[in-house]
Amino acid sequence: MKTVRVGALTLGDGRIYIQSMLNVPADDIKGSVRQAEALEKAGCEIIRAAVPDLKNVPLISALKKAVSVPIVADIHFDYRIALACVEAGVDKVRINPGNIGGVENVRAVADACSKRGVPIRIGVNSGSLEKELLQKYGSPTPEALVESALGHVKLLNDCDFDNIVISIKSSDVKRTIAAYRLLSERTEYPLHLGVTEAGTERMGLIKSAVGIGSLLCDGIGDTIRVSLTADPVSEVYAAKDILKACGLGRGVEIVSCPTCGRTKIDLIGLANNVEERLKNVDKPIKVAVMGCAVNGPGEAREADIGIAGGNGEGLIFKRREILRKVPEDMLLDELMKEIEKL
Ligand code: SF4
Repeated sequence: MKTVRVGALTLGDGRIYIQSMLNVPADDIKGSVRQAEALEKAGCEIIRAAVPDLKNVPLISALKKAVSVPIVADIHFDYRIALACVEAGVDKVRINPGNIGGVENVRAVADACSKRGVPIRIGVNSGSLEKELLQKYGSPTPEALVESALGHVKLLNDCDFDNIVISIKSSDVKRTIAAYRLLSERTEYPLHLGVTEAGTERMGLIKSAVGIGSLLCDGIGDTIRVSLTADPVSEVYAAKDILKACGLGRGVEIVSCPTCGRTKIDLIGLANNVEERLKNVDKPIKVAVMGCAVNGPGEAREADIGIAGGNGEGLIFKRREILRKVPEDMLLDELMKEIEKL
């Protein structure tokens, strides 16, 4: 497995890095900076920005000044924009070398990136697959996507460039999974995972969780982007949750029961409030929010901290120890106090 440095991060070092992409118009530098700051605050570790035109290159320097996470320039077709972004100090370039007008342009970009240690992400999407491959395979099959990606890799390798990350996205979840599985057998480069055009906040998250999550569970992937038709900050929280669900998360894991006819406290409200209050907490702890004494004490005992509901009250557990009984209206605050002490 190769490793690739992106700013201060190393893709391929075993940690899965969360990334997202700005969706403010590239001309709006102030708005883009504000959004990048919000993403960084939410825990985004790599921020990508579209640079559609040479006149938008100053966006890169503005973002570099505003946030400390690595910045990726997303470029299509015009190699001169890539050269200018590298000059402006960008940390990674997303560009497909097969689309930038010939080997001289590829060499120019590869040389500029080599000089500054800037990696290139090749980003193959099912919607923009080369015509010849579409003809050969009939549709953007996993094999077609892999062949396309490896074709772009070869163009860079032919220019002695090896500092590469690859993505191979499809809006079809099963196809995305199959494509990445195939690609991971055929390359050593770090992989950027994502299901493209996944959809609105709810469905996009589900598709991404299935697609990205399946691959992460296979041990495939080095950085993830959850693509949602929503505020990119939601993408970051979604990515964190997918990592948690795959046992790769940082921060708090909440275990809560679905409630049933035995529940005699407002557990749904409590669990949602606990989740909201803990969403930016980085402690690697497990919190159990359980509705009653049937499974509650057992789960709560397995957790670092937890509550098991009673009739209008709850027991607070810390690891295996019962701390105290607390009336329902004080449960949230008391639980939060105990979590702060951990
Ligand atoms: S823990 Fe208790 S309240 Fe929650 S689902 Fe199980 S039996 Fe019902």
